Formats: sequence, structure tokens, C-alpha cells
Amino acid sequence: MLEVVDLGHRYRDGVALENVSFRVDPGELVCVVGPSGCGKSTLLRCMAGLQRPSSGSVWLRGQAVDSVPAELAVVFQDYSRSLLAWKTVAGNVSFPLHSRERNRSARRERVERALASVGLSHVADKYPWQLSGGMQQRVAIARALAYRPALMLMDEPFASVDAQTRADLEDLLLQVRAEHDMTIVLVTHDIDESVYLSDRVLVLSASPAIVVDDIKVGLPRDREQITTRASDAFVHLRSDVARLLCRVQ
Ligand code: ADP
Ligand code: MG
Repeated sequence: MLEVVDLGHRYRDGVALENVSFRVDPGELVCVVGPSGCGKSTLLRCMAGLQRPSSGSVWLRGQAVDSVPAELAVVFQDYSRSLLAWKTVAGNVSFPLHSRERNRSARRERVERALASVGLSHVADKYPWQLSGGMQQRVAIARALAYRPALMLMDEPFASVDAQTRADLEDLLLQVRAEHDMTIVLVTHDIDESVYLSDRVLVLSASPAIVVDDIKVGLPRDREQITTRASDAFVHLRSDVARLLCRVQ
């Protein structure tokens, strides 16, 4: 599905990424963890075709990514800048669909389903600034879900919501992924979240980032906030990731 080959990126004042290579198979959910400032967002922007890397390449279904591919959706950490303030919640969710779904009633149905899945049907006609931060982030997620991308890239999507909302959104993501067989790459700095959500955890080093490990998370696909996190396998995995991160800080 996705292949990142020897990706490197240098900003004017330093190297952010160095020879990052990995592959993501169709239907996989891969979490990327690494110390703050190590280059995770840079990596995601390069993968999305939003930023041209200094070296290396990104391939989506065998095609080189040099602009934002149509089958991609991105969810950024900063929801306040990613929603359109002059459009309603429903308007924000349907906006990218105009190019994808020409049929108006089909479009409306997709918007309604996506809003229902994040529990926001009741605010469809409100504006983003009338909602709490957590709700705004759910709108951004609904927008990505309604688009039904083959690949979804998410940059710390749950970092700025409260703990309960965060757990709900994690489970929503797992549920949607099971329903639509989406491929997802999610950046997080939360070790527990990376293990809870993913099939694989890619651990990046401190800046300039390289991939220091690629850990297979062998937990059963069906996860549950309390029992999964309490299982021996989970506890071992989270300590493996934590130990690696400690070593690369
Ligand atoms: P992370 O998402 O892991 O916190 P970033 O990719 O945002 O890391 O940043 C990696 C490094 O590149 C940091 O040192 C950051 O200061 C630098 N950087 C990020 N974006 C830019 C930019 N647009 N211009 C210059 N330097 C940047
Ligand atoms: Mg970042």
C-alpha cells in the first residue's frame, strides 16, 4: 500500500529525517512514536505529499507521491486550523466530498453516517467555533471518515482531547477501520496509545529521526480499553516501546 524509501529531510537549520524506510500493508494500522521534535510531523507531511522531502521517495500503490493523492485523508493535531470557520459542521464534512461523490443525496448520506459515528449528529448545523475542542476534533475525524480514503494519515489526532473522549475516539477508529478496511498511519507520542491501537509500532530516534525498531503488536484485533491494557502482552509491549524511547531520547 505504502512504501517510504530512504526518506530524508533537511530544514535550513538542521536535519529532521535521515534515511527513514518502512512499508505499510493494505489494512494495517501502524503507529509512529518518537520523542517530541524528532521529525514525526515532517515524516507525515512528506508521506501526504504536502512537503517535498530533501531525499528519498514515498510510494502509494506503486505510484510516486509528489502531490496529495486523491485516495488520502489527513487528520492534523491542530483541529482549530483544519476546520473552515464559515461552514457548518455538516458543511465541513461534506466539503472534500464534492470532488469524490457527485450524487447529492449519496453525499448527504455519507455526511450523516460519519457524523453519527462520531456522535455529532445533533450539532450538524452548528459552526465549529460553537463546539468544544474535543468536538471539533471529532468533526475533523468525521470529515476524513466520510471521505473513505484508502489511506488515512493522522498526526497526534487525540492529543488535545480529554481522557474519556480520547478513549472513545480510539475505539471509534478501531471500529471504523474494521468496517472499512482502511489503512492507517497514526503519529502519537503516547506509548500506551500506540500499542493499544496498532498492528505495528515504528519507533523513531531523536532528531534526526531514523527508524530504531519496528515492533509487531500481536494482540488480538478486538481490543477493549480495560482488559487489553491490563493484559500481560500489552504490559510487555508498552515496556519494550518505553525502553526503546528512553534509550533514544
Ligand atoms: P515532531 O512532529 O516529531 O515533534 P517535527 O517534524 O515537527 O517533529 O520537527 C522536527 C524538527 O524539524 C524540529 O527540530 C523542528 O524544529 C524542525 N522543523 C519542523 N518544521 C519546520 C519548518 N517548517 N521549518 C524549519 N524547521 C522545522
Ligand atoms: Mg508533530
